Amino acid sequence: MPYVITEPCTTTKDGACVEVCPTGSIHEASSQYYIDPDGCIDCGACAPECPVQAIFPETEVPSKWASYINTNRALAREV
Ligand code: SF4
Repeated sequence: MPYVITEPCTTTKDGACVEVCPTGSIHEASSQYYIDPDGCIDCGACAPECPVQAIFPETEVPSKWASYINTNRALAREV
């Protein structure tokens, strides 16, 4: 169950989460940061680092931002 970066990141793009990810699974796209679901080990270290509360476990993504589950997967496939 990977973590997912959602809508608040699209306007903030703080990037603090990148530094704490032990597997290097958080990357920058032009629109937002995203998590590669194949690399995420579900450690939870990134979520509290986000100043705009954009990061959730996949099963806890608010319904209004559910599309970001696919967005993170799609961005990871582009590279
Ligand atoms: Fe990286 Fe852990 Fe966040 Fe997954 S939950 S993206 S492994 S910091």
